[in-house]
Amino acid sequence: MQPVSFRDIQKGLREIGLTPGSQVILAASLPAFGPVRGGAEAVAGAVTSLCRLVLSPAFTPLCRVWPLVGPPNNGALYHGHDDENASAEIFRPDLPVDVDLGPVAEAMRHARGAQRSRHPLYSFVAVGPEAEHTLLAQSLAEPLGPIARLAEVEAGADLLLLGADHASNVALHFAEARAGRKQFVRWALAPGGVVECPACPGCPDGFPAIAPYLRGVSRVARIGLARAERIPLRSLLQVAVDRMRRDPAALLCRRPGCERCAAVRAVLAPAA
Ligand SMILES: [Zn+2]
Repeated sequence: MQPVSFRDIQKGLREIGLTPGSQVILAASLPAFGPVRGGAEAVAGAVTSLCRLVLSPAFTPLCRVWPLVGPPNNGALYHGHDDENASAEIFRPDLPVDVDLGPVAEAMRHARGAQRSRHPLYSFVAVGPEAEHTLLAQSLAEPLGPIARLAEVEAGADLLLLGADHASNVALHFAEARAGRKQFVRWALAPGGVVECPACPGCPDGFPAIAPYLRGVSRVARIGLARAERIPLRSLLQVAVDRMRRDPAALLCRRPGCERCAAVRAVLAPAA
């Protein structure tokens, strides 16, 4: 099979309606493409060189630490974290991103002109003229501020899935917050010491259930073996918030022992 090229990727992105004016939140799975000439850097480069702004999660769970006691129903147990606490790292802007985000998210960190926000757990990388403005919308109190800012972009921003499914769709975390779903308190090692991080997002494992509700609003193309999908961000948020208002347990996962999804269910009215 012919490896996917930079040009193939840009052709696919144009097919789903991306233009040099596009502002996108990127979630990409490199293996989903099959062989790619230039690997993760080529994928990140194809998106950043076409679109005006690309926002990519650069989360660092490695910086998380746990206190011995904390708020109740916080989607976590406070014991059993000795190893995690001992191996936690202090956040620095040059820390690699969470390996679970994949090599394209890591490549975004090295993309030309890339900037990174400073949240010790939920930093984002952005590339483009509005990168700084977008990242400045984040604070400890509002970890998903950059997504909120993109939701207000007048021309409309997009969520771009390249071979990734909605479990990697960080915009759905913002939809959860907007729908009033329970958020969590976490703690992180920052350069000045341990920092309490409010409003941390829940578990994304149930997010793929949103897919059928987006059929009318998304545009899809094939790039190599990967499915490329563009979803207008405002439509995505509207559909997801509506789902959660109709069914307060929507988009939660069914994994036994999922502490965050159990904590959300615990605060739902019994009738839900
Ligand atoms: Zn879950």
